[in-house]
Amino acid sequence: MIKSELKKNMEFYINNYDKTTLDLKTENIVNKDKMFIGNKNKRKCRFCGKEKGETTFKKIAHAIPELVGNKILISFEECDDCNQIFSKLENELANYLSFERSTIGIRGKTGIPIYKNKKGLRIEHDKENKNKFTIQDWDNSGNVIEDITDSSITIKGERNPYIPIAVYKCFVKMALSIMPNCYLPYFWETFDWIREENHSLTENMPLKMFEQFIPGPKPFIDIEMILAIRKCTSKEKSPFGIFLICIGNICYQVYLPFAGPDTDDDGQRENLKFLTLPSKYTLEIPEDDIHSIPKDFSSSERVKGEKTNITYSYDEKVDATKELKNE
Ligand SMILES: [Zn+2]
Repeated sequence: MIKSELKKNMEFYINNYDKTTLDLKTENIVNKDKMFIGNKNKRKCRFCGKEKGETTFKKIAHAIPELVGNKILISFEECDDCNQIFSKLENELANYLSFERSTIGIRGKTGIPIYKNKKGLRIEHDKENKNKFTIQDWDNSGNVIEDITDSSITIKGERNPYIPIAVYKCFVKMALSIMPNCYLPYFWETFDWIREENHSLTENMPLKMFEQFIPGPKPFIDIEMILAIRKCTSKEKSPFGIFLICIGNICYQVYLPFAGPDTDDDGQRENLKFLTLPSKYTLEIPEDDIHSIPKDFSSSERVKGEKTNITYSYDEKVDATKELKNE
């Protein structure tokens, strides 16, 4: 993507949207970093509307999944039944992010997952030193490609099989979890949609997602989120609700389907104008490095064997064979 286009997008969002931002610390966490949504003593689930007595609230509900690194934001507004539904969506997100979590180093409940494929590739992060990781591979496997001319190595991997619509719902669920109360009534159909487990409800508009990759050593140490809600004064036909979450090196941007204000008088939803919302680093990085990849997550069919890759550039190369032999 070219920078001038992103600058225009930035202006578009400033003029037409109200933004709520939230950052979550993922490292060096102390007890006072913990944040809570809702009232512990007056429980009501924001997803199904049930109160204590009608449903239970025994489980600790993470407003943002632990698998993307959230250890501090807990919701008192998510009942056990809804939590159970969402945990299935989170499994699909974990499948989708299987390669990224290992290569970028995103710590979940049980640390940074090890990535393995059938062709001998293994990526494992050091338990003591979080910036160190080991890539194991067979010679000439094709998993790891080195480019000496620009001092980089590219690792080719595969995502675990995932259901696209479930992954999308998981991102939308995060947006609804952190959404200020005043906006919730506009999304009552969206709540029904994320809780519908057969994935039979479909929108006219494709479930489009933008993925922005920001190069460099983990630019987003915190989880950074933006919830953008279209201003009531805006005349633009763009989605009412947009959510961006940045983790490690990647920002994922979804729109919130089934929003009331996106429906016209006939109950129809048109194809809305959906633009990349630049992350805070996008406008600072060199022109060639700006990637915003549009993807379609509308399908409820499991996607198998999807290829993906990551490129690391290096400053220096050291022969570590001796070190490895001594181990
Ligand atoms: Zn519920």
